[in-house]
Amino acid sequence: MLLLIKFLIYHSETVELATFAGVLFLCWNIENLAAVTLNYKKWKHAFINAGFILTNLPIGLLFSILFAKCMQWTMHHHFGLIYSFHPFVHPVFSFMGSFMLLDLGEYVYHVLMHKNKRLWSFHIVHHSDRIVDISTMLREHPGENFIRLAFTLLWIFLTGTLFWVLIIRQIIQIFSTSLAHMNYTLPENVDRLFGWVFITPSLHQVHHHYQNPYTDSNYGDVLSIWDRLFGTFKRMPPEEGVIFGVDSYMKDNEEENNFKSVFKIPFIPFRKRNQLTQSDEVVGRNIFYESNELIS
Ligand SMILES: [Zn+2]
Ligand SMILES: [Zn+2]
Repeated sequence: MLLLIKFLIYHSETVELATFAGVLFLCWNIENLAAVTLNYKKWKHAFINAGFILTNLPIGLLFSILFAKCMQWTMHHHFGLIYSFHPFVHPVFSFMGSFMLLDLGEYVYHVLMHKNKRLWSFHIVHHSDRIVDISTMLREHPGENFIRLAFTLLWIFLTGTLFWVLIIRQIIQIFSTSLAHMNYTLPENVDRLFGWVFITPSLHQVHHHYQNPYTDSNYGDVLSIWDRLFGTFKRMPPEEGVIFGVDSYMKDNEEENNFKSVFKIPFIPFRKRNQLTQSDEVVGRNIFYESNELIS
């Protein structure tokens, strides 16, 4: 175990990159075999979302250096919440405590992104995807990417997260985020069982529903326990199928069919949620998809 941790510390970036590429490849191919939504242009959709890899790469590299510096400092000064109980408990419990604190941090961050108007305008980019599949997890505006990593840096500082704990969590997070965004559903009984503790594809799909109260639910990252604890856990009634998107960004095809338009969403005049008229709601999915270039 110690050898594995040492290996992860010394090769963290390579391991994370290899895991990311491997999981992406695997999920892409599982979707090809067992996708739920089939009638869309998968490659074109993925090409738009993949553009965010390039914009977010330098930010990710900058913060990986800042994370390492921060953790060196907290370790040297024994600063942070973890250090108040770390010497008294078994490393396994210390890891579990740190892992849960990091996951709680992601939950708090996600709630803030939905509740603050300026932050929401960046987060809309992720939610504006009208088809949720494995490439949707890449669709994060660099503005949001910067805010998320800055928040994580602050959380690492306050909690005193250890380097190896952060790496293991990030690897688990790659699996969990990929699974949550897949164009795939688990068998219902399996989904319900895992959903007691983890965010499953169907739970995250509810979060991507175009209207409230569903959009403002299931904020969890890896664990669903925070949603259950803070009353934000929701399942969609079977008679109401999920429609992906955001109610205020459903009509303009330009916004979803080229990278430049999607990138500009946070900088265009803000549109309030729940602005659809009664007739818009009645026509629902069909009219939204009618002239969408992503649909074959
Ligand atoms: Zn969200
Ligand atoms: Zn998502």
